[in-house]
Amino acid sequence: MDILDIIVKKRDGSSLSEEEINYFINNVVEKKIPDYQVSALLMAITLNGMNDDETYYLTKAMLNSGQSLDLSSINGIKVDKHSTGGVGDKTSLVVMPILASLGLKCAKMSGRGLSFTGGTLDKLESIPGFRTNLTEEEFINQVSNIGIALVGQTRSLVPADKILYALRDVTGTVSSIPLITSSILSKKLALSSDVITIDVKTGSGAFMSNLGDALSLKLSLEKTGERFGKKVKCIISNMDEPLGKAVGNILEIKEAIDTLNGQGMADFKNLCLSLAAETIYNAGLAPDIVHGINIASVTLKNGQAFKKFVDMVQAQGGDICYIKNPTLFENAKYKIPYEAKIDAYINHIDAKKIGLASMLLGAGRRTLKDKIDYTAGITFERKKNDFVRKGEVILYLYTNKENVDDVISLIDDAIIYGDNEIEDKLIYE
Ligand code: URA
Repeated sequence: MDILDIIVKKRDGSSLSEEEINYFINNVVEKKIPDYQVSALLMAITLNGMNDDETYYLTKAMLNSGQSLDLSSINGIKVDKHSTGGVGDKTSLVVMPILASLGLKCAKMSGRGLSFTGGTLDKLESIPGFRTNLTEEEFINQVSNIGIALVGQTRSLVPADKILYALRDVTGTVSSIPLITSSILSKKLALSSDVITIDVKTGSGAFMSNLGDALSLKLSLEKTGERFGKKVKCIISNMDEPLGKAVGNILEIKEAIDTLNGQGMADFKNLCLSLAAETIYNAGLAPDIVHGINIASVTLKNGQAFKKFVDMVQAQGGDICYIKNPTLFENAKYKIPYEAKIDAYINHIDAKKIGLASMLLGAGRRTLKDKIDYTAGITFERKKNDFVRKGEVILYLYTNKENVDDVISLIDDAIIYGDNEIEDKLIYE
């Protein structure tokens, strides 16, 4: 077999066989194919797509590229939740404690933020002392004992994804439905959870910028998951504007704590409840989604979800004084108000531009080697469809940088005003 023949075949729109896909992935992991040929095939897949069989074979080959984690010693229903990535997306920090407080076993491996998107690991590491690098034994024991652990990916888990994702990131090949499906599912399947809920984001701050593509990704994830005998269910949610009140690591941890204590912004809380309800229903703990929402809401009201979060932070070495009293968290040197320019409705707050602005303030990294300022970020006082008067504060910028002119011009571009409210939806499916 020859990689050039495989590239040409996909370039010309033909389907690849299981053997060809296995050959590709095995040789990628063994570093026998140069980056330019790997990238050429990734681009051919992005442009010409893959059918259901090819997507299944690719997911299987990626899954088999590393070791799976055996969770069979953990008693109970194992659940996992994943988001395709966004701005201000701290849902895992609320959804997993809700589920764990109901007796479900939450074994979750998360990623780091890159470019305009944030990552759960960075947010958790902004809690002093919190360890995301548990050993496999510590991870399994913690899930068995308290029902929840949120950690980083082990080196042995799906090595093919690490190599392919790094290349996709710099070759314009992230937004491909079969490549996203195989990337997400191979990592989820390696943990062998019983129920997997995926939040497929659509909008300006998401890889799937339009609803049609998001629906296709949802179908692809669900169908491929089914071929592995797993219950994979997707929600499609809006990522046109940032989710909730805060963007940035400590700021998002504080918002998650508020929400776990029954407060917080409605859009964020509702999405958390919907994701929890979908999982609760698929795990068989509720007869339908409406009951699932009620069950999840109770855990926010009675403090059980918050307690699970505290238990997890403590088990992973974090200082729970900060969780019980969030005013202890370090603050950025500067808190800068950004005011409305005119009397008008806010029609749009562009998620991607806000994510980039937050990164420039210090909250994110351009490359995986950059260091993060945990105190930096943005909080919103007003959001889409709010009416603002000229001079009213729409948001605050938090930073340790002296000059934020570049950030202010990005925010100027991100906010669009109008004369009326416009139709808006948080959850499409
Ligand atoms: N998240 C992933 O893990 N992989 C993708 O390809 C896109 C989002």
